[in-house]
Amino acid sequence: MHELSIVMSIVETAEQKVREHHAQTVESIDLVIGDLSGVDRHALDFAWEAGVKDTVLQAAKRTIIQVPAKAKCLECDCEFQIKELFDVCPLCGEPLLQIIQGKELQIKSMVLN
Ligand SMILES: [Zn+2]
Repeated sequence: MHELSIVMSIVETAEQKVREHHAQTVESIDLVIGDLSGVDRHALDFAWEAGVKDTVLQAAKRTIIQVPAKAKCLECDCEFQIKELFDVCPLCGEPLLQIIQGKELQIKSMVLN
């Protein structure tokens, strides 16, 4: 399952940070997830429960910050929000878009304890 491997890599990063800072556990964690990241939120919740068990993240309060997808038109340079990867530019109708936001899946911040 894709989401479980995501959770495992988050756990890995968190454990590394805890070690680095000689902390005990993670009190809270903020995740940034882009609309185009391909992450299924329900699957992520499910994977989270299984994946953080007996780790430093077990009791962590998790906040998910969902960011909308944004693209830039390579034809006229305007920037706009998109819903799908293959949306066209609302100004000139060109399909030549560069995704500038929305694919991210990362840890924004963590509070260690
Ligand atoms: Zn355009």
